[in-house]
Amino acid sequence: MSFAELGLIPELLRAVDEAGYTEPTPIQRNAIPVVLAGGDVMGGAQTGTGKTASFTLPLLHRLSRHASTSTSPARHPVRALILTPTRELAMQVFESVRTYSKYVPLKSICIYGGVDMKAQIAELRSGIEIVVATPGRLLDHVEQRTIQLGQVEFLVLDEADRMLDMGFIPDIRRIIGLLPQQRQSLLFSATFSEEIKKLADSMLRNPQLIEV
Ligand code: AMP
Repeated sequence: MSFAELGLIPELLRAVDEAGYTEPTPIQRNAIPVVLAGGDVMGGAQTGTGKTASFTLPLLHRLSRHASTSTSPARHPVRALILTPTRELAMQVFESVRTYSKYVPLKSICIYGGVDMKAQIAELRSGIEIVVATPGRLLDHVEQRTIQLGQVEFLVLDEADRMLDMGFIPDIRRIIGLLPQQRQSLLFSATFSEEIKKLADSMLRNPQLIEV
């Protein structure tokens, strides 16, 4: 099984090839077709399995293939939101997004706390389709009305179990409340406790459970 057989657009195949990947990992083989078909995913995968590409590649494919349905005056509404528990993970995921989106005309930003908001605000104003963020700083932007989430088509919750351990679930629920109900959602977690399952029930629609 190759990345081409998964049906990804040539722009993504080129980026994957340049990254030196020869074949998809198990989570990629299983998750990419489901996400490409528009389905929700509950993914059980640890770091190191290739899980980041398993959601980033099909997400970029869908954003590229389907123009925004936005009727808002914003030229580049935020269409995908990827939430991570820590700044380090946000930066790692953002690096992957940048790598894989090299040949598609989609703009991305990494938003985390502990740094001045001004630069993030200026970048957001320039029109950004993909936001990788930690929950607290994202909510700061929501409160200051420097980000609008009303056109989000894709939500990814990465390392949901760590989000839970770090006490982010109330923030996550607040953020989900700001998103359109009509969207595609993916949740990744290394473990599935009752609390994670409850969160998944409230944010996913008929998810496909994929464990590696
Ligand atoms: P992740 O589990 O997403 O943190 O990815 C772990 C590492 O595997 C990252 O350094 C990726 O660049 C790399 N990687 C992801 N997918 C593949 C693949 N199909 N072939 C080789 N390396 C990969």
